[in-house]
Parts: sequence; structure tokens; C-alpha cells
Amino acid sequence: MALRVDEEELVTCVSCGLCLPHCPTYRVTGDESASPRGRIAAMRAVQHGAAGLDAEFTRYMDECVQCRACEAVCPSAVQFGHLMTGARETLAAETHYVPRWQRLGYRALTHHRALLAGSRALALAQRLHLVPSRVSLPRLPLRRPPLRPTGDDVWLFTGCVMDAWQRPVHAAVIRVLDAAGVGVALPDPRAAPCCGALHHHAGLAAEARALAHRVMGAFPGEAPVLVDSAGCGAALKDYGELLGTDDAARFSARVFDVHEWLAARRDRLPLDDATQLPWPVAVHDPCHLRHVQHAQDAVRVLLAPVVELRELDDDGLCCGAGGAYAALHPELAGEIRARKLEAIARTGAPIVVSANPGCALHLAAAGVDARHPLEVLDEALAGGSADRPGSRHG
Ligand code: SF4
Ligand code: SF4
Repeated sequence: MALRVDEEELVTCVSCGLCLPHCPTYRVTGDESASPRGRIAAMRAVQHGAAGLDAEFTRYMDECVQCRACEAVCPSAVQFGHLMTGARETLAAETHYVPRWQRLGYRALTHHRALLAGSRALALAQRLHLVPSRVSLPRLPLRRPPLRPTGDDVWLFTGCVMDAWQRPVHAAVIRVLDAAGVGVALPDPRAAPCCGALHHHAGLAAEARALAHRVMGAFPGEAPVLVDSAGCGAALKDYGELLGTDDAARFSARVFDVHEWLAARRDRLPLDDATQLPWPVAVHDPCHLRHVQHAQDAVRVLLAPVVELRELDDDGLCCGAGGAYAALHPELAGEIRARKLEAIARTGAPIVVSANPGCALHLAAAGVDARHPLEVLDEALAGGSADRPGSRHG
């Protein structure tokens, strides 16, 4: 069975093993099969007919967090993200790799009103102690603040789960942009319900492409499209490649992580009027901001004037959230997270910031006070009166 991967990319790996220490699943298991090199070897075996799309191959692919840390450090420039997406596309098309219940879950992300109603029901079930403790979730909101557009200088992509579970982040982003004199337009969430990243990562390429077309149609004009979720931003920036059209490439060129865009216009922020926050903040770099968008420094540029930043000493190791990974592989995700929690604890900071909602939720579910960087900046611009450290954990 030929995998839907580029043969040239598959042979690029020289098996040097330099990526192994950076791979979160290899770090916690010590298994070659759970390493980038081992996964590429398994892909080659299938591609060259020495193995089939069996349960073992499926497990090797499925346990990858798709953090792309291996890609970032590979001296041979192996495009691991492409390879993994192609392998999963093959599994999704040829096997029962994505079962029906998961496909229904991914489809639910594209129906925004139903998603909001389902999230409220889940929040209610949490209050009634009906959600089993093994389901690793922070406390979900029963109510969400309304979002109102403030102008048309930029668009803000609002997405699916983030809008349902972390809408206060969007509200904080709009306030920070407003403080910088930037008017924000909002899309109709029914027209742009989800970026399709989770679908793409699961190998559901047709669904991901259909969502890309819908999202592109929801942001007419030439205004920049800002994204406050690193995973969604990486997906929107990839539409040019995913769809392979000039229109998609033009759209992707309009997409910016909100920190990236704002850091380049930092002088517009009234930072002289901001309050210096009294507690230090640890900075967690989401994989899709650091390894894919390479925009992690922008978070530091924006926050350094208002709060003491403390760096983690784990060289950007993944936290284990990985989109749907924490839900599908709770044990491995928990083991990976345990290392991140130790690194956060070593900083001594009572708060950690992450520019990706999945990471923040995953860390908050372990009791960490995890916030979005622009929530912290918003607080400083507002005078630093809200939410003391420890008041926001799961
Ligand atoms: S993916 Fe890159 S770093 Fe890892 S073993 Fe292959 S060539 Fe070496
Ligand atoms: S993407 Fe991340 S989890 Fe997957 S092989 Fe590479 S480093 Fe390991």
C-alpha cells in the first residue's frame, strides 16, 4: 500500500537520531517506535511493501503528538509534518483509523450553535459532578461574554472550541487591539466555524479542505486576519499549501498570529500608562507558534514591558495537549504534561502564559493558572486590578 506521502521527503531522513531528544513521546517512552526516526522507518516499511497498514503501524502514527519539534531540529530538513499528515490521510481513507464517533465529533466542530449548546451542557454536567474525573478538563464556562466588532482594520478569527470555552480571551484581544487604536471586525461564526486543523491532523483531508474554503469566504477584502490561537493560526497560514490555489496562498499571506502582528506595531500600545504587574509569568511556547509559525518571540516583546518573564528550561518541549491528543491519549498526554509542569514549577512563577487554547486548557486541567498572553497584557493596560495568581486554575 502506497502512503500519500512525497517519496522524496520520505527518503530525506538519514536516521541520525538528532531529533530523538526533542520528541515528547520518545522522551516519556524511550521506545524507538515512538520517535520520529522510528515512525519514518515504519512509513518506509509500508511504502516499500515490507509491512501493511496494521494495528502496529496505526499505533506508531497515532501516538505522535504532531508537535513538529523533530522538524524544527532536523539537519536534513525532513518535512515530518507532511509525512505524518500523509500517513494519517492514508489510514483514514483505507482503514477504520478514524471511527464514526470521532468523525461525528469533528463534524460537531463545524456547527457553531450546536457546539455552544453542547459546551453549556457539559459545563452544567461538571457543576452536577456528572463528568468522570478521568476526563481531563478545566472548569468550563456556563456563560460567555458577547463579542462586538470595533472597526474594520483587521479581522479576528474566533474559531470553534476556543470561542465556546475561552471567549474571554477573544474579548481581551479586542480590548488590547482597541487600546492600540486598531478596529476589529468579526466573522459570522456560522460561516467560519472551525479552521479544520483537527480534521487535517486526523487525516480527514477532504473535510479540512472544505473548511478552508468556508473560512476563506468568511473574511472578504484585504484586511489582515489575526488569530489568537497558535494551532488555528498555523492551519490558516497553511491553506495555500492545503488547497494549492493562488486564492488560498493570497489568503494565507493575510494571516498573522495576533502577537506577531501587534509586536510589529508595539509603539501603538499605551505601554507607558500600563501597570507593571507584581507577579512573574512563565512563558510556554505552543509548538505551533514555535516550530511552525516561528513567532514565539513576539509574545516576549509584548509582555516584557509589563511583567517579569521567566523562561522554561525544557528547550520548548511539547506539553502534550496536541489538539485532540490529550482526549484521545490521556495517559501519554499526562506523562508528557508532567515534565512541562515540573519545568513550570522550576521557574517559581505563579502563572504560565500560552498562546494556544489547547495548551492552556491542558495545563489548567492539571491545576495550573494558565492564561493567554494578551489576557495578561490586557490586565496590565487596565491597571492590573483583576484576577490574582491562582484564581484561574482548573
Ligand atoms: S528526522 Fe531528521 S533529525 Fe530525525 S533521524 Fe531523520 S534526519 Fe535525523
Ligand atoms: S511531531 Fe512531535 S511527537 Fe511526532 S515524532 Fe515529531 S517530535 Fe515526536
